[in-house]
Amino acid sequence: MGRDGHARHLLGLDGMDRGVLEELLEEAERLRPVASGREPALRRLAGRIVANLFFEDSTRTRCSFTIAAKRLGAETVDVTTAGSSISKGESLLDTALTLEAMGVAGLVVRSPGSGTPHRIAGVVACPVINAGDGRHEHPTQGLLDILTLRQRLGSVTGRTVAIVGDVANSRVARSALFGLTVMGADVLLVGPPTLVPRDMAEISAGPGRVTVGHDLDAVLDRVDAIMTLRIQKERQTGEEIPPDYRQRYGLTIERARRLRPDAIVLHPGPMNRGVEIDSEVADDPGRSVIVRQVSNGVAIRMAVLARCLG
Ligand code: ASP
Repeated sequence: MGRDGHARHLLGLDGMDRGVLEELLEEAERLRPVASGREPALRRLAGRIVANLFFEDSTRTRCSFTIAAKRLGAETVDVTTAGSSISKGESLLDTALTLEAMGVAGLVVRSPGSGTPHRIAGVVACPVINAGDGRHEHPTQGLLDILTLRQRLGSVTGRTVAIVGDVANSRVARSALFGLTVMGADVLLVGPPTLVPRDMAEISAGPGRVTVGHDLDAVLDRVDAIMTLRIQKERQTGEEIPPDYRQRYGLTIERARRLRPDAIVLHPGPMNRGVEIDSEVADDPGRSVIVRQVSNGVAIRMAVLARCLG
């Protein structure tokens, strides 16, 4: 979380200080009763307007940023590609500047292009929050994943988390990897060589380690948690997906039986049931924390909005 001029942005978890990460997780934990609607909305961002600039489709992230803003007392305005002047050729930067000129308190940006939120942060004076940029990062997803892991595992330090599937094209994998390793967890990246490049083992500064592997069956009994990823069809260039993908990397019911009894299953959504994960696994209340990830998403986004805009 950095500052450009006076604005406080959240552009990625790469390089984020462990202390800041812990503060965000703790604040999200405190905000959970409000995030879930069990306690009334707060007034912390009353009178302010948050602009959601979503230049790529989204269900969970967009709705939870909106709900998070409202539960902090803010109002929201939504801009999407369809229905805005982007479809007339206006650039994303001009769109951001236009919203800023209307006096919004902050911009939540999702884009298919890696680095778009960073470029926007370079031209506006208000805070920018990255809601997923291309293959690069999805920091609030990484935070909600760690929050969910901590709730079930107690702590992530010293734990081992496997991230399985289309790692190369996944901003979710990158943000989770940066956040988890800063917190001292080890990460196993598992998938076909075309989708898990070897050099990904080097991208984190630690202290947790990152290991790249291609044999899912070999790691099942040594992980505390397994996160399966959707194949990012919209970001493929050609022959990356092996025809036996599900056979080799799908989290089937047979594979789930070979996990440790207390190991948990995560998925950022949207799921392609029957491809990267079987329904019996996704819906298993003993192992699956997928619904909990979604609820935690509101609390995390409240904590991030409060910190950046408050
Ligand atoms: N919702 C996540 C993202 O926006 C994961 C996915 O789309 O597969 O990156």
